[in-house]
Amino acid sequence: MAHSNISIFVPHAGCPYRCSFCDQNTISGENELPHGEDVRRICRQAMAEIKNLKDTEIAFFGGSFTAIDREYMTELLEAAHPFVGEGGFKGIRLSTRPDCIDEEILRLLKSYGVTAIELGAQSLDDKVLAANDRGHSAEDVFNSSRLIREWGFELGLQLMGGLYGSCEKIELDNMSKVLDIRPDTVRIYPVVILKRTRLAGLLGSGKYRPMPFEKVVKLCSKMLCEFEQAGIRVIKCGLHASEFVEQDMVGGYYHPAFRELCESELYRESISNALLAEGIPLYPGGNINVVCAVAKGCVSRAVGHKRSNADYFRQHGVNIKFIADDAVQKYQCVIRR
Ligand code: SF4
Repeated sequence: MAHSNISIFVPHAGCPYRCSFCDQNTISGENELPHGEDVRRICRQAMAEIKNLKDTEIAFFGGSFTAIDREYMTELLEAAHPFVGEGGFKGIRLSTRPDCIDEEILRLLKSYGVTAIELGAQSLDDKVLAANDRGHSAEDVFNSSRLIREWGFELGLQLMGGLYGSCEKIELDNMSKVLDIRPDTVRIYPVVILKRTRLAGLLGSGKYRPMPFEKVVKLCSKMLCEFEQAGIRVIKCGLHASEFVEQDMVGGYYHPAFRELCESELYRESISNALLAEGIPLYPGGNINVVCAVAKGCVSRAVGHKRSNADYFRQHGVNIKFIADDAVQKYQCVIRR
C-alpha cells in the first residue's frame, strides 16, 4: 500500500535565519500559522476520508519545527498525538534544521509519537552552506543524523542541488556523503530561485551563475539512481508542482515533472549503453528496429517524458519497441532484435 502524508505547513515559524533561497510562504503557499484546533480538524477529516491509516503519517513541514516556540510546538504535537497509534495514523513526521536537534528535543518528540525526522541538510559542503547563509555546518548534519538514528527515528535528508557556490564536484561529493550517512529517505530539491530572496539578487547582479538545467538533471538522475540502489527511498525529486512557485520563480531548476525528466535521462543513458554493447550504431538516417525490455512499470519512463527518448533514438536511426520484463532491473534495459 502506498505511503501518504497529511501535510500541515508551519511556514517559517521560529526560524532565526534567512537562507539565501528561502521564501517559505511561497513554497508552502500558506501564510497563516496552524494551531492545535486546526491540527485536530485536519486529522479528524483525514481519518474519515483515508482508508489505509497505518500507512499514513501526520507531517509538519515547511519550517524548522524543533526551533519554534516550545509552547506552540507542544500545542501542535499535543493536538496530533491522540490520532497516532492503535486505530490511528502510523506516526508523525516533521522537518527541521540540522542544528536544532539534541537529546532533550528527541526525548520530547518520542513522547509525542514522532516517528520520522527529516533534516534540511541542503548541502554537506561548509563553503556552500556559508555562502547560502544556512547558519549550520556539515558536521551538524552528521551529528544530528547519528543522534536521530540512535533514538530510533526514521531519518530523512533533504538536499538542494545547484546552490550558490556549488558545482558538479561538490554535488557528487554531497551524494557520496549522503551514501555514507545512509538515511532512510532523501528528498532531492534542485534549487528554485524565488523573488524576494537573496539568490534572486545574486542572480540579477550576475554574481550567481547557476549550472545549466541539463547538467542539474543529469546530476539529480545520478543521485536518484545511486540512492535507490543503496536502498534509500527517494521520496521527492524536484519541488512539487505549485502555482505559487511558478508565479514567483525567477530562475533555477523548477519543472512540474522533474523526477520524470531524471528518470528519462537515466533510461536514455542505459539504452545508449545497451545499443553500443550490441554494436548498434546511432546515426540520423539509419533504420534499425529493436525491442527494448525494461522493468515492469517502467515502460513510460523508458519511452521518456513526452516520448523524448523514443523520439531521440528514432531521429538517430533506431526505432524502439519497449516491453516490460520482470527479470530486468529498474533503470536497466535489455536489447532484443
Ligand atoms: S532554515 Fe528553513 S525555514 Fe529557516 S530560512 Fe532557512 S530554509 Fe527557511
